[in-house]
Order: sequence, then C-alpha cells, then structure tokens
Amino acid sequence: MFRFKCASCGDFHSGIPDIGWSYPVYYLDVPEAQREDRCELTSDVCVIDDKWFFVRGCLEIPIIDADEVFAWGAWVSLSEADFLRFVELYDHGQRAGEDSFLGWFSTYIEPYPNTVKLKARAHLRDGGIRPFIELEPTDHPLAVEQREGITLERLREIYRFFKISVFTETQVQEGLRSAGG
Ligand SMILES: [Zn+2]
Repeated sequence: MFRFKCASCGDFHSGIPDIGWSYPVYYLDVPEAQREDRCELTSDVCVIDDKWFFVRGCLEIPIIDADEVFAWGAWVSLSEADFLRFVELYDHGQRAGEDSFLGWFSTYIEPYPNTVKLKARAHLRDGGIRPFIELEPTDHPLAVEQREGITLERLREIYRFFKISVFTETQVQEGLRSAGG
C-alpha cells in the first residue's frame, strides 16, 4: 500500500506501518533509576512491582477505502491470574479460540482524548502473532474508529501527527528518477 522507511532496518518496506509503544504507560511512572529493580519488561509483557501486569497486543483498525488494516501496538493490564494464564497459553503455537482476557487499556495515544483505562479485551491468536485488542464499544473516538474503520486520509493524518513519512509507489519511483538525474 504505502512505501515507508523502516525504523528498525532503515530500508524501504511496503505496507501499512504500525505505531507502537514498547512499554505500558505506567512504566514511565517508575523513576528510571528504579526500573531495573521494580520492572520486568520484554517485548510482549511487563510486570511492575510484582503487582501490575500488562501484555502487548494490536489494536487493529480497518481501513475503509483499502483492503488493509492499521495497528496500534498497545498494552492492556490484566489481573494476576489472567496474566499467568495468558503467559502459559502464549508460549503455545495453537492458542486462538482460548479464553480472551478482560483488562484496561494501558497506552496513552496522544491524538485522542485520554485512552488509558478504556475497557478492553485481549484475544489470543495463533502463530506467534500478538493478541488482538478489542475495545469496549463505547463512544470514545478510538473505539468508534476500531468499530467503523478509518479512511486512508485519516491514516495519513495519524502518520503526520507521529512524523512518519509514507509514500506511494509512484512517489518512490519519481523520487528515484529525479535522484538518478
Ligand atoms: Zn525493516
């Protein structure tokens, strides 16, 4: 769909770049010097003070005028019991259709009214894909966008807000042509 410069490898890839956070918002409340002692953080889970439990998932938003999906990489808090069950299931290849987990959205997505503590559900998926996050169907704009989808123009607006440059295939080719003289 778009061509974009990959934040990890610096090459151009095709697709719809995700926007994600590598920790739940509460991680930032822990003073930096204390994080090593108080937090356990991997790319998929986070535990703070052995008391607060979070998992990373994908809040997917359908794109109405393209056959694509945009994903926010975001975090959901779970109860300790659900978290332990989640971790147990997460290590298995076949995990779709298992119970989903009720929790609270734990990522602050800035262009929206406060998104922290929206009620959410994390659904396990097969094949090493992060869980699907489903927001409670409220009137919150993020929940509405998940339910109804967004347009490509709205997606471009989101990318502009996060200063992510995306190009069309034609723009990339024209750019290469002009760079080549
Ligand atoms: Zn890459």
